[in-house]
Amino acid sequence: MSATIIDGKQIAADLKESIRQEVESRIEKGLRRPGLAVVLVGDDPASAVYVNSKRKSCEAAGFVSKAFIKPTTMTQDELFALIDELNADDEIDGILVQLPLPEHINGDEVIERILPEKDVDGFHPYNVGRLALRMPLLRSCTPKGIMTMLEKTGIDLVGQDAVIIGQSNIVGRPMALELLAARCTITVCHSRTKDLEDKVKGADIVVAAVGIPNFVPGSWVKEGAIVIDVGINRLDNGKLVGDVDFHTAAEKASWITPVPGGVGPMTVATLLENTLESAKMRD
Ligand code: NAD
Repeated sequence: MSATIIDGKQIAADLKESIRQEVESRIEKGLRRPGLAVVLVGDDPASAVYVNSKRKSCEAAGFVSKAFIKPTTMTQDELFALIDELNADDEIDGILVQLPLPEHINGDEVIERILPEKDVDGFHPYNVGRLALRMPLLRSCTPKGIMTMLEKTGIDLVGQDAVIIGQSNIVGRPMALELLAARCTITVCHSRTKDLEDKVKGADIVVAAVGIPNFVPGSWVKEGAIVIDVGINRLDNGKLVGDVDFHTAAEKASWITPVPGGVGPMTVATLLENTLESAKMRD
């Protein structure tokens, strides 16, 4: 088999365009533009790139976009004060604090400081809990974006065996909850998992979120499986690769996401989708 590529770049572009049009029609009806505040603490170059791209996408969609770039020396109390201000700002529907934060700031406490209805990253325990209870409100962007991609394949997910490699709070865990809510049978694997290869070999759907270049070889992929590659790894030669060995996996899979141009663009588009949703809830 040779896989069909799930074109995240195109799906994300279409989603962003439909959001832009919805914002335009809101303005025509006299409603507000959705507003997103992005907070960056410190000078991590990768984070700066992400923040910039989120900001540009916001502006292209017609959102109000506010960016707060703060030095590494910012204290946790100062960050709390900024979040409190943004929680109270009626122009702002979504607050995103770019992770990772400097070591002296407790990321969990920062996420909990954001009002759940403005938590457009979907990381607040309230929002994760709602997803766990099948009452989703604001859903984590990367897993939600992956669900949008899976929908585009037109494949019925009910009863499929899904293996998620990675159990982080931002990808693996919420991804497992999404697939469970979609009535897949889920197996969540991590660095202590036994016989990972066998588990992947049995999967109808594989989601790789490990952070190790080409970690999943094509020989592990079941014939006809759907392969979702969340990994973004930069090699020494500057090339970006995923967690899946794309060429060998594409020989076996029915559908596969590329890196770059797969899950990555969906995360940003879904952030806009969540911010628009939050604005609608707050109208
Ligand atoms: P993380 O480091 O928090 O988690 C990695 C997970 O992989 C852990 O749960 C760990 O147990 C598991 N793992 C590590 N080694 C393993 C092994 N040998 N066998 C099985 N499991 C193993 O990473 P994360 O934040 O979840 O990100 C994972 C990858 O996804 C990274 O490459 C990151 O850059 C990428 N990412 C992409 C997007 C996107 O929008 N495309 C968003 C978030 C993260």
